[in-house]
Amino acid sequence: FNSKLIKAEKMEIVSHLASSISHEIRNPLAVVRGFLQMMEQMDLSAQKNKEFLDISIAEIDRANDIIRNYLTFAKPSPENIEIIDIKQELERALNIITPLANMNCVEIDANLEQSYYIIGEAQLLQQCLLNIVKNCLEAMPEGGQLQISTSKLSQEIMITITDNGQGMTKDQLSRLGEPYFTTKGREGTGLGMMTAIQIIKMMDGRLNVKSTVNKGTTFQITLPLQEVALNEVAATNN
Ligand code: ADP
Ligand code: MG
Repeated sequence: FNSKLIKAEKMEIVSHLASSISHEIRNPLAVVRGFLQMMEQMDLSAQKNKEFLDISIAEIDRANDIIRNYLTFAKPSPENIEIIDIKQELERALNIITPLANMNCVEIDANLEQSYYIIGEAQLLQQCLLNIVKNCLEAMPEGGQLQISTSKLSQEIMITITDNGQGMTKDQLSRLGEPYFTTKGREGTGLGMMTAIQIIKMMDGRLNVKSTVNKGTTFQITLPLQEVALNEVAATNN
């Protein structure tokens, strides 16, 4: 009886997810279709064409974000759990965001200590970091500074990510992580922080956020440290 109950619950979650995804994806698809149709049927200026293409690309990116963030909930995969080198993962994330930061005139100041190890899914940690960092960049539309650092607490590692962007009001901060909460209108999905928080929870971590309007925001991610001997790490990497 118990196992049936669990199965039924899972089915319910999956069908919720399926209907949420299709509902959410329909909007960007409809927008892209509309713009393509206009470009086909109307004799538009080069400038209008470019504008419609840019919007279409942004909408496709949004659809991608929606799918990726929803899939985190659909597919917890314990088989992918491994020993993760925090320094290596942060460097990987930095490689991805540096071009984006450069485009937005954001200077990155990374201060990563030595390698520290945690247990989790590297891909999910990447997604969590990118969701947070992307928000930081989006909070600095006129450029700014993004600081990323790590520090060791007694049994934990703390990743600190700070921007000097728009910041959040008390009310916005309290709604952070609520599904669909966004201040970005149709550019936003309101799924990024919900997913980041879920990933941190899956790794038995905590998230602390401090924010001041027009000053900036600091995200502190604390994750339990895995004490491993170096030969053990070498063994898992092979
Ligand atoms: P989205 O980015 O699609 O709006 P998120 O869940 O990633 O959705 O973020 C939700 C909201 O939280 C954002 O719309 C923004 O208002 C606020 N927010 C998140 N990170 C920051 C930040 N670094 N600075 C200011 N506001 C932020
Ligand atoms: Mg976001």
